[in-house]
Amino acid sequence: MPLTPQLKRALADRIRYYNELGVYDFYRRETAASTQLQPEQRDELPKAKSAAVISEAELFEVTKPESAVADPTQALLAIREDLGDCIRCRLHKQGRKQIVFGVGNPRADLMFIGEAPGADEDTQGEPFVGRAGQLLNNMIKAMGLRREDVYIANIIKCRPPGNRTPERDECETCSPFLMRQIATIKPKAIVALGAVAAKTLLAINAPMMELRGHWYDFRGTKLAVTYHPAFLLRDPRQKKEAWKDLQMVMKELGMKAPSPQM
Ligand code: URA
Repeated sequence: MPLTPQLKRALADRIRYYNELGVYDFYRRETAASTQLQPEQRDELPKAKSAAVISEAELFEVTKPESAVADPTQALLAIREDLGDCIRCRLHKQGRKQIVFGVGNPRADLMFIGEAPGADEDTQGEPFVGRAGQLLNNMIKAMGLRREDVYIANIIKCRPPGNRTPERDECETCSPFLMRQIATIKPKAIVALGAVAAKTLLAINAPMMELRGHWYDFRGTKLAVTYHPAFLLRDPRQKKEAWKDLQMVMKELGMKAPSPQM
């Protein structure tokens, strides 16, 4: 069955409806219509793709409002709008004040990804503005960059009660929006701050000591792992290890290292 623009739109609407319900993963089965086609009939549809051969990537492309927008600033706004006043997971009724979407340069070469907003972030609506944020700012400065040069986001966008670690289902529900932010910004490198960010993005369960110090491929983008600034505040002796991680990132981005001031 040819996939007409109308059918594509109807499928997109249906997928968006499921997304609203928190369903993001779909599995494809051969459809009766396509399996009934004889091979020579399939050949008669060289341009109009059959429902069975359209790629998932194409189908999802039509569901994302940002895919119609070339400018990354506008595309990020479209993602934010799609997120809406999110009620997709339990965190919306567990005391969050606001959604903390992300901040920074929509064309950043470097993206930092933390865990979840804390109290200060929840109040101000911006990631990493509390004490850990001050240290992250120093880390960025030590790299010779300004906060506004990079993009900063978290795995989840709402503060968990009492700053508890995000639950797996909360990460799974929220992180597709982060994936869309990453796909829009197209950074040259991502730094995962701490174990929750690293494990969620890489889907590996390993101690931080093993996770850091290497490059990973994250959907075609280089990803490095370093200690979370909140951990560095508790154990400042590890700052020199974090600085090594950041130097690895600077080398990859062709940046000259100024003297450390973390
Ligand atoms: N910790 C995080 O992981 N993210 C923030 O935004 C603030 C603190």
